[in-house]
Formats: sequence, structure tokens, C-alpha cells
Amino acid sequence: MDADVKVAERKCYINGRFAGSGKQFAKINPVDGTVVAQVHEADRAMVDEAVRAAKAALKGPWGKMPLQARVDLMRKVAEGIEKRFDDFLQAEVADTGKPVELASHLDIPRGAANFRIFADIVRTYGTESYHLDTPDGKGAVNYAMRKPLGVVGVIAPWNLPLLLLTWKLAPAMCCGNTIVAKPSEETPSSATLLAEVMQEAGVPPGVYNLVHGFGPDSAGEFITTHPMVDGITFTGECGTGSAIMKAVAPTIKPISFELGGKNPGIVFADCDFDAAIAGMGNAVFSNTGQVCLAPERLYVERPIFERFVAAMKAKAESLKLGWPQDKSTNIGPLISRQHQEKVMSYYALALKEGAKVVTGGGIPKFGDARDKGAWIQPTLWTGLPESARTVREEIFGPCAHIAPFDREEEAVAMANDTPYGLASTVWTRDLSRAHRVAQAMEVGISWVNCWFLRDLRTPFGGAKLSGIGREGGLHSLNFYSEPSNVCIKL
Ligand code: NAD
Repeated sequence: MDADVKVAERKCYINGRFAGSGKQFAKINPVDGTVVAQVHEADRAMVDEAVRAAKAALKGPWGKMPLQARVDLMRKVAEGIEKRFDDFLQAEVADTGKPVELASHLDIPRGAANFRIFADIVRTYGTESYHLDTPDGKGAVNYAMRKPLGVVGVIAPWNLPLLLLTWKLAPAMCCGNTIVAKPSEETPSSATLLAEVMQEAGVPPGVYNLVHGFGPDSAGEFITTHPMVDGITFTGECGTGSAIMKAVAPTIKPISFELGGKNPGIVFADCDFDAAIAGMGNAVFSNTGQVCLAPERLYVERPIFERFVAAMKAKAESLKLGWPQDKSTNIGPLISRQHQEKVMSYYALALKEGAKVVTGGGIPKFGDARDKGAWIQPTLWTGLPESARTVREEIFGPCAHIAPFDREEEAVAMANDTPYGLASTVWTRDLSRAHRVAQAMEVGISWVNCWFLRDLRTPFGGAKLSGIGREGGLHSLNFYSEPSNVCIKL
């Protein structure tokens, strides 16, 4: 870690004020194991105060604010993030260990862009209106208006902290909701800086409340079980989604879930080989494989199988695992020692299950402070049966299993043989096959000859275990607002 990075204090932000708590936890830098922040954990009373402030703000200046003024404020928040770009960048990098190159091109710009995108979209968000005939011939006008859901609980993960938090906050706030947000305990910093930006921009007290903490018996659970929270939007693991579903059941809250995946990548022999290697290399290893959309199962048509495996091995071995501030670094550490243990348990399991290790499989040795971090080698396997747990369960690390196939139908069947349904990527030059296979994938998003590319107005979400509902453009606004029907007899 750079010597000039100090231990930060990350407080909660409730009703327009930063609030400390009697209980704090340390946020550890996964690069070298140093403490980067002391985080104030919200107790039940603090979460209750945040929820009540959010409820009250619905009736205050925020609730009465004309749409244009709200939209202008959201644009000010985007500008505020951009003005403090370097602060956000360093905070995100210190929490996650991800390379500055990645965070400066993806995480921080998208954090700002999310507010602008939804500010634009909400301006043109239409509603339904019908004319009804009535027996007296005078008729009626029937229209649906959109109202905010109310207090929205936003629970975010650690892999793309600012990007995924703002992906929920921006549409929710554009629709006029108020927020109680809980970032991951692993990434408290950018959400705290965002509170400063909200305060400076003039977002009224109680609109954006931030509570730090964990899940069970902590801020996460206190939000989901609070009777005055009107809806929950959550991104994270399937198991957590299931726990939240149970927690919200007694108070019947609407939920939007973006969950895990075990995504397939299918590579046909007719593909642009170099593009496929570059694309798959990026998809498997970027952000140290900690991307919900990353393919961990690659199916490659037999004629190019050996060549593909060799080229992916070369790609993996060319990646520089380095200090985040070094611009030539390709990948950083995993998020924590705990996650390193989980990923290493799968590396061990793969061997037990009979995998052939193509490359990696262990923890790198640096001979410097990084040996105290949460690093792991990029890893590829072959030779596992489709029934192996390594091939069926989400690992969330820089790793993939590569299997050969002979027929298109066989590849499609293997790709779909999973309880997950988040994303897929297919590489081929055959146009008909591209459409056929993309459409056959049981996923929320199916890429052809690319990965991660998407117009942000299009629907994003998972099929099967991978989620409930869709985010993106109008799909987000549909969740964060509720239609209310008005019928007027003329
Ligand atoms: P996680 O489920 O462990 O934690 C996510 C958030 O939920 C954290 O803020 C955590 O504190 C909170 N939480 C945990 N238990 C809770 C509970 N019982 N009640 C309320 N809140 C609780 O997930 P993670 O490890 O932070 O993120 C990795 C996972 O997220 C992976 O499974 C990945 O695939 C998934 N993910 C999905 C998407 C998507 O768009 N589908 C995007 C990114 C990550």
C-alpha cells in the first residue's frame, strides 16, 4: 500500500448528518492486509432512525420537488462525483485492491453516469391513459400515474461497489424515493464519499441515508425486516437473496434481486480466434474474476480445443498481478482473505474431482507486503465431468473450466444445464448460428462475439436462480415506482 494512504473513518449518514456508532470494524486492504478504514457499524436504533428520516423526507421538500428540480439535483450529484474523481478512485482502490486502470475506466465513471442516464430517462417516462365509453354517453378518462415506492432499502455487494450501488440509487432517487443504503462491509468507502457529495449537492436530509454493517443480526437484517421500508433492491449471492426473501415475507415488500451466476461461454471453430481469446481472457480474469457475468464454464468446439486451451493458458500467464497504482497491472487480489479461502477451497476441490490444472491453482508468492494480502493465481482446468461441483457452483474467482464439444445442440444443452441463468457469451462467425444459440440460452443476457457490452436502457437481470426482476432504463423505473390508477367520469 502507498505510504500516503491513511486509515480513514467511515461513518454512517443519517438524516443529513454523519453519525458515529459505539461499534466499529476494520476494513482490511486485500493488497497487503493493512487496515484502510475504521467503519462505524449501525445498530438497530440507527437503522430505525435512518428509516424514519427517509419516511419523513418523502413528505418534505423532496416529496414536493418538481421533477425537473429533482433531475437537476441528480445531475449535480453526477458532477460532484466527477469533481472528486480521484478521491473516489483512491477509496475504491483501497477497499478492493483493484487496479486504478480498471476503476478509473469503469467503476467511477459509471458511478457518475448512472445518475445522468436515469435523469434523462425519467424525464420521458410516460404513463397510460384511456378514454372509456359509458352508458350515459359522457364517457370517462382513465389514467395511471406513477408514484414512488417510498423508502427503498438498497443492499449492495463489494465487487463493483460504486457502480452497483448507484445503479440502484440513481433510478430510485429519480423516481422520488428515499433511500436507506447498505454497502458491503468490504467496501464502505465510496458510499460514504457519496454521502458527502449528496450533502454538497443539496440533496435534502433524509433522502440518502447510509448505514454500514453486515447482513444477519446487523444493518442488512435491520433494513429488510423494518416494517417502514417499502421495497428492497439487492445485488449479491443467491443464498443471501433467499434469506432476504424470508426476511421481507412478513411485511410483503417488493423485491428486485440481481444474484449469482455460473455463466457459460461457447466458442465455435469458425470464430475469430484472436478476438475470442482476447474476449474470453478479459471475461474470465478481469476484476480477478469477481464479476457476476464472468464465464466460469467454457465450451470449445473440438477442432480448436487444444489451440484454445494453449492460447488461454498463455493469456492467463501473461497477466500481471501487481500493485493497484501500477498502470501495467492487469489484476489485483481477491476482496479478502476469507474469499481467498473460499476460492482456494474450490482450487483444492477441482483436484479432488479429477481436474487437470492447465495453469495456476495456487497462491502467488511475491516476497513483499503482498504476501499478507488475498492474492490468487489465475487458473484454468480441463478434464472435469459436467457433474463436478467445480463446474456447477459459482466460485467468483479468476478461473474457468474448459470442455470440448462436438455438436451445437450438445454445447447448448451443457450451457443450459445449470440452476443459474445470468449471462452467456457465444463466439462464432455464422450469423444464423449466432442468433439460434443466443436465443436458446436460458439467461438474462446473451452476448455474441463480445462480453459486458450493453446499452444501459436495455433489461438486465437473471433467469432461474440468478435473480428476480430486471434493471436498466425503464425496467428500473418500473420497479422503483408504483402505478396508481385514476378514473374520472366526465
Ligand atoms: P453477499 O450476498 O454476501 O452480500 C451482498 C450484500 O448483502 C452485502 O452488503 C451484505 O452485507 C448483505 N447481506 C448479507 N447477508 C444479508 C442478510 N441476511 N440480510 C441483508 N443483507 C445481507 O454478496 P457479495 O459476496 O457481496 O457479492 C458477490 C455475489 O454477488 C456473487 O454471488 C455475485 O455473482 C453476485 N453479484 C450479482 C450481480 C448481478 O447483477 N446479478 C452483480 C454483482 C454481484
